[in-house]
Amino acid sequence: MSETATFNKETRGFQSEVKQLLHLMIHSLYSNKEIFLRELISNSSDAADKLRFQALSNPELYEGQADLGVKLSFDSDAKTLTVSDNGIGMTREDVIEHLGTIAKSGTADFFAKLSEDQSKDSQLIGQFGVGFYSAFIVADAVTVRTRAAGLTADQAVQWHSSGEGEYTVEDISKDSRGTEIILHMREDALDFLSDWRLRDVVSKYSDHIGIPVSIWTKEKDEEGNEKEEGKWEQINKAQALWTRNKSEIDEEEYKEFYKHVSHDFAEPLVWSHNRVEGKNDYTSLLYIPSKAPWDMMNRDHKSGLKLYVQRVFIMDDAEQFMPSYLRFVRGLIDSNDLPLNVSREILQDNKVTQSLRSACTKRVLTTLERMAKNDEEKYQSFWKEFGLVMKEGPAEDFSNKEKVAGLLRFASTETDSPEQSVSLASYIERMKDGQDKIYYLTADSYAAAKNSPHLEQFRAKGIEVILMYDRIDEWLMNYLTEFDGKQFQSITKAGLDLSQFEDEAEKEKHKETEEEFKSVVERTKTYLGDRVKEVRTTFKLASTPAVVVTDDFEMGTQMAKLLEAAGQEAPQVKYIFEINPDHALVKRMADEADEEAFGRWVEVLLGQAMLAERGSLEDPTQFVGAINQLLNK
Ligand code: ADP
Repeated sequence: MSETATFNKETRGFQSEVKQLLHLMIHSLYSNKEIFLRELISNSSDAADKLRFQALSNPELYEGQADLGVKLSFDSDAKTLTVSDNGIGMTREDVIEHLGTIAKSGTADFFAKLSEDQSKDSQLIGQFGVGFYSAFIVADAVTVRTRAAGLTADQAVQWHSSGEGEYTVEDISKDSRGTEIILHMREDALDFLSDWRLRDVVSKYSDHIGIPVSIWTKEKDEEGNEKEEGKWEQINKAQALWTRNKSEIDEEEYKEFYKHVSHDFAEPLVWSHNRVEGKNDYTSLLYIPSKAPWDMMNRDHKSGLKLYVQRVFIMDDAEQFMPSYLRFVRGLIDSNDLPLNVSREILQDNKVTQSLRSACTKRVLTTLERMAKNDEEKYQSFWKEFGLVMKEGPAEDFSNKEKVAGLLRFASTETDSPEQSVSLASYIERMKDGQDKIYYLTADSYAAAKNSPHLEQFRAKGIEVILMYDRIDEWLMNYLTEFDGKQFQSITKAGLDLSQFEDEAEKEKHKETEEEFKSVVERTKTYLGDRVKEVRTTFKLASTPAVVVTDDFEMGTQMAKLLEAAGQEAPQVKYIFEINPDHALVKRMADEADEEAFGRWVEVLLGQAMLAERGSLEDPTQFVGAINQLLNK
C-alpha cells in the first residue's frame, strides 16, 4: 500500500527565506533557547483569539468547548515536549502557507542585508520575529498535528520537519480541534523536560497571556513518589495584562507582554497604559520600541496595533487608530464602545475610531514629550531610530503640528555635530536680541550644510542656524512655517534680511557700496541675460565671492532634487545671483574693463556659487574653459 496515496503525503521544500531564517536562528539564538516556549504559547494565544473572533458570528465552531487554553506535557523517555491548544487550528493550505513560507514582502532583502556578524544577527532576527520556527532552536525535529475549527476529525493534517530544507504534510485524523506541536528535543535542550523548568519559563514569559497555560502533573503519594494518576494544573495568571490594575503590574510584566504583542526580542523604550471611562470607554496599552522595525520604511509596513472589543480580539494591524508617522507604535486598544462585529470598513468613518485615534495620538505624543524632558539620552536613542518617520508628522497631522514640531530634533551650528539633538525650543532660548526668526539651511549632507557659504555672516554675528540634511527636510519645511510664534526663514532664500543685526554706520556703508557697485551689477546682468532671475550685491558673505539664492516662494534646490529623485518633473529653479563687493576676486572683476574678460569672471563666480548650491553644473565645460582662460592670462 502506498502511504502517499492513502494519506495524501507530500514532501515539500521550504521557501529559501525560511531556510535562511532557520539556519541563522539556530546559530544566533542558542544562548537564548527558552524563548521558543514564549513564541509557541504566543501563537496558541493568537489562535485562541482568532477562534473567539470567528465564533462571534459562528458559535458552532466551539463544538461545545469554549474554554480555550494551552497544555504542556513532556515525555522524558521519548525526549519530547508537546505544546497543544484548542484554538483555531490550521487547514492543509494554512499549514503549507504558514509553516513553509514567510509571506512578508521585503523578507528576501532583509536577509540579504544580514551580516556575517552573528552577534548582530541575533538582534536583527529578533526584530524580524522568529515565531514558530524558533521551535528548531531546541528541537531537531518538529511534528505539528492540527485540525482547523469547523472541520471533521479526519480532516486534520500533520506537518513534520527536521528543519533542514524540507518538510512533509499528510492527512491524519485528530479528535480534538486545534494545534499540537511535538518537539523532539535536541540533546542540549533536554533540561526543558522538567516540571519546574517549564513553570519557570512560563511564569517568566507567559504569565500575562489571556488564556490559561496548564501542565500535566502527576499526583504524589505520602512519600513524595509520583503516582500514576495526574491532572492539569494551571501555571500562569491567565488574565490579559491590560485588564489588570496598573499598580499591580511590574516593569518586567509590561516588558514581557510587549514581546508577546510585538514579536520583538528587544525591550520597549517606554509604554503608556491607560483605562478611560466616560464618553469613550476603553483601555489602551501603547509601546514605543527601542529599535525601528526592519520594514518600517516599506510601503506595506503593517501597523502594530491590535484591536480588542470588550476583551475579544478583533484584528491585527488596526492602522485606523494611529497616524502613519507614529506607525512604529506597538500595543493594543480594547474598546467597550465598538460593536463586536466591527470590520475595517466600519472603522473607516466611525466616530469612535476618530476619537480613539485622536486620544491615542495625543497619548503617544505626551509620552514622547515626557521622555524628552526627563531622559534626554533615551529620547536621543528614540530619535535616532524614529526621527525620520516623526518628520512626516507636521504634514500629516495638522492638529498636532505644534506638538510634533516640539519633538523634532536637528543639527545646528551651535552643537557643531551631525547628531540631531537640538530642539526648536532650545533654539528659541538661544536666539539673539532682536532675532525674531528661526534660521535654517537645507543641504544634501551634513558636510555640505556645515560648510555652506551662506553661513558666513551667521557665524560672524554669532547667530545659530539649524542645519538640515535629511532628504525629507525640504519637504517637511513646506509644512512647518512657524513654531512658538516664530517664523522659519531659510537662509538661502532671497527674503533673508539681517539688517536688524547691523548698526547705523554699517547700514550707511552698505548703501554706499551698493551705489558704487551698481554698474558692476548691471554689467553682470547684461552678460548673463535670462540665465539668472536677478543679480545683486550682498553683505552676508565673508570669504566667499558669490552665492545663489532663490525667491521666497520659489522652489528651492533641495525640493527640486527631491522631485527629480522621485521621477517627477521639477520646474527649473531660477536663481538670484548675489555677489560680495568686499571680496578680492569680485574687486578684480569690477576692475576688468574688457567685457569678454569680465564675462569669464562672471562665469567662474557663478559656476562656483552653483557648485556650492547644487553640487553640479549644467555646463561644466564652459566653467572650466573660463577658469583656464583666466589662469592663462
Ligand atoms: P507569526 O505568529 O508572527 O505570524 P509564526 O511563524 O509564529 O509567525 O506563525 C506563522 C503562522 O502560522 C501564524 O500567523 C498562524 O497563522 C499559524 N500558526 C502558528 N501557530 C499556530 C497555532 N498554534 N494555531 C493556529 N495557527 C498557528
